[in-house]
Amino acid sequence: MQSITHYIDGQDTPASSRSADVYNPATGEHTANVSLASRPEVEQAIASAKKAFLAWAATTPLNRSRILFRFKMILDDRKDELAAAITKEHGKVYEDALGEITRGMEVVEFACGIPQLLKGDYTEQVGRGIDSWSVSQPLGVCAGITPFNFPAMVPMWMWPVAIACGNTFVLKPSEKDPSAPLLVAHWLKEAGLPDGVLNVVNGDKEAVDTLLDHPDIQAVSFVGSTPIAEYIYHIAAKHNKRVQALGGAKNHLVVMPDADLDNAVNALMGAAYGSAGERCMAISVAVAVGHIADELVNRLKDKVASLKIGNGVAKGLDMGPLVTKEHQEKVKGYIDIGEQEGATVVVDGRTFQADNNGYFLGGTLFDHVKEDMRIYKEEIFGPVLCVIRVEGYAHAVELINKHEYGNGTSIYTQSGAIGRNFAHDIQVGMVGINVPIPVPMAFHSFGGWKRSLFGSNHVHGEEGVKFYTKRKAVTARWPEGNLGPEFTMPTMK
Ligand code: NAD
Repeated sequence: MQSITHYIDGQDTPASSRSADVYNPATGEHTANVSLASRPEVEQAIASAKKAFLAWAATTPLNRSRILFRFKMILDDRKDELAAAITKEHGKVYEDALGEITRGMEVVEFACGIPQLLKGDYTEQVGRGIDSWSVSQPLGVCAGITPFNFPAMVPMWMWPVAIACGNTFVLKPSEKDPSAPLLVAHWLKEAGLPDGVLNVVNGDKEAVDTLLDHPDIQAVSFVGSTPIAEYIYHIAAKHNKRVQALGGAKNHLVVMPDADLDNAVNALMGAAYGSAGERCMAISVAVAVGHIADELVNRLKDKVASLKIGNGVAKGLDMGPLVTKEHQEKVKGYIDIGEQEGATVVVDGRTFQADNNGYFLGGTLFDHVKEDMRIYKEEIFGPVLCVIRVEGYAHAVELINKHEYGNGTSIYTQSGAIGRNFAHDIQVGMVGINVPIPVPMAFHSFGGWKRSLFGSNHVHGEEGVKFYTKRKAVTARWPEGNLGPEFTMPTMK
C-alpha cells in the first residue's frame, strides 16, 4: 500500500501516527494511506517556512520569478503525469484534469511577472525637501487550505503569488486527493526553490487548527465549503491573521427567451455536468425565462440521458465518478429529497449502472423546481441540474440576488441591453454573458460575493498581490541645517 506523507523543509517525512484512506473513485480501490499531521508536525512545517523566510524575502523579485519560470517549464513538460495523478484520486476525466493544470499554470505565468506589480510609488517634494514613497513587502509565513475538487489548480491560486511576493508557504491540501500537490512541491525543488519556501502538510482539522492559531502564520487563504470557510475566517481573524476564505456556491444560468438555444443548451451541459458537477463554478440552476422553458427542458433531457460516463482515464468521456462513496450517497440523497419535495425528475441519475465499484452517478435533471426546495437552496456539488421557471428578467435577477451564495452566474441572451443590465444588477462576484463558467484569467481576480467569500480580497491578479503584501510608506528628508523642534502637527508647507 502506498504511503503518502508530508513535504517539509525540502524532504518527504516519515508517516504520521494517524492516516486516512485514499481511493480511486473510478474503481473503488483503496490506493494509498495519507498521513494526517499532528500539531507538532505542522509546527515543524511552520518553523521550516519561518527559517526560510528572511533569505527568500531578500532574494530579488526577478530571481524568484526565474525559479517560477523554470517550474512552469517543468510543469508544461510533465502535465500528463500530473493529470494522471488527479484523475486517479479525484476521478475527473483526464482532459478535464489537463484543463485544470492549464488554468493553474496561468497563475504561475502571472506570478512570473509579479516584479512589475511589486513596484512602489514615489512622490518628490511632498514637503520642502521632503520625498515620500510606498513599497510593498511580504508578510512572512502564509498558509493555504484547499479543497478536493481542484487538487492542482486551487493551490496554484495561492502559493505562486505568495512566494513571488517574497513569502514562504505552508499548504494543507485536501486529504481526499493529496498526490498532485506533492508532485508539484518536488518539481519546485527541481526548479531551484530553496527548502522551506513551500511545505505541504496533509491532514484534517488538527492540522488546520494549528495553522489558524499559530503566531508565526501571518495570512490564511482557504477554499472549500461555506461552513468551513466561515469557521476559518472567524478563527484566523481572532488570531489576528489576514484571511481570505472562499466558500460554496449555487450558480444560476439565466436563459432569456431570445437566447440562442443551441448555445445555451450546450453551455448548460458542460457547466452542469463537467467534472460531475464538482466545481465551485458549476451551473446547478437553469433559470428559464418565459416561453423558452419547455423547449429548453426537452433539449436538455436527451443530452443528459446520453452523457458518456466512465473511468476518466478513457478518452472522450463527458464525466467520471464522484470523489467518494460518502459524497455519492449525499448527492443521491439530494435527488431523493428533490423528488419528495415535488420537483419533476426529468432524468434520474440514480438509475445509472456502473460496471464496477466506482462511485458513479448519472446526470440528473429536475424541472419545476421551486425557491423553497432544499435542492434549490443548498449546494449539492454533483451532476444535478435544477430548472426553475420564471416569468421575466426582473424575477430572474431577484431570485439570484436573494440567494445565499454569490459565486458565479451567467445569462444567455442576444440583447446587449439585457446583458449589460445583468452585469450591473446582479449581486454575484463573477458574471458571464453568453459564457457559461466565467472563471477569470489569472491576471484578473477570482472570488464570489455574499456567503461565497469571507474576507475582502479575491485570489490571484492584483487582489492576490495585495493580499500577500503589506504596504509601507516612507517619508524622508536630508536637512542641511538645524531644523529646530516642531510641536505642531506637520503640515508640509
Ligand atoms: P471542505 O470544506 O470539506 O474542505 C476544504 C478543506 O478544509 C480541506 O483541506 C479539508 O481538509 C478542510 N476541512 C474540512 N473540514 C474541516 C474542519 N471541520 N475543520 C478544519 N478544516 C476542515 O470542501 P471540499 O469538500 O474539499 O470541497 C468542496 C467545496 O469547496 C464546495 O463547497 C465548493 O463549492 C467549494 N469550492 C469553492 C471554490 C471557490 O472558489 N469559491 C473553489 C473550489 C471549491
